[in-house]
Amino acid sequence: MRFHNTERNKMRFYNTGKSSWRFGDPMPTRAWYSCLGPCPRCGAMSFDYGGGWRCSDPTCFFGPGNSLPNMGPKPDWWNTSIDVFVDGDQWCAIDKDNFTNVQESPAGFGSTPKEAVACLRRILNPCKEVRDE
Ligand SMILES: [Zn+2]
Repeated sequence: MRFHNTERNKMRFYNTGKSSWRFGDPMPTRAWYSCLGPCPRCGAMSFDYGGGWRCSDPTCFFGPGNSLPNMGPKPDWWNTSIDVFVDGDQWCAIDKDNFTNVQESPAGFGSTPKEAVACLRRILNPCKEVRDE
């Protein structure tokens, strides 16, 4: 996976179709938390939580009501050039740095943001084993 220095330092703006926010901004309702990337399950904004993360959607399995101490590692595609958004009844993932339009540019689709990102990565790196986390 490519990691430009500028990419690391640039704060990503997300608009998933479910909500929109900027990576690293304080949470609107709980300013002591920072906004992270889209929830890999439902695409809502997630936020940092005790060294881990939580989804802001209370109806999501990864939501704040889940008493599990950790939701697993933060997805490695957060705050990169990868963007996810709702497209009809599925999720679409694109690489903003290599994107013209959906017809001409590589795009991954899936029933969750995580699946769409895994699909995009298989298209971008067909010969590489993609770690599914
Ligand atoms: Zn969620």
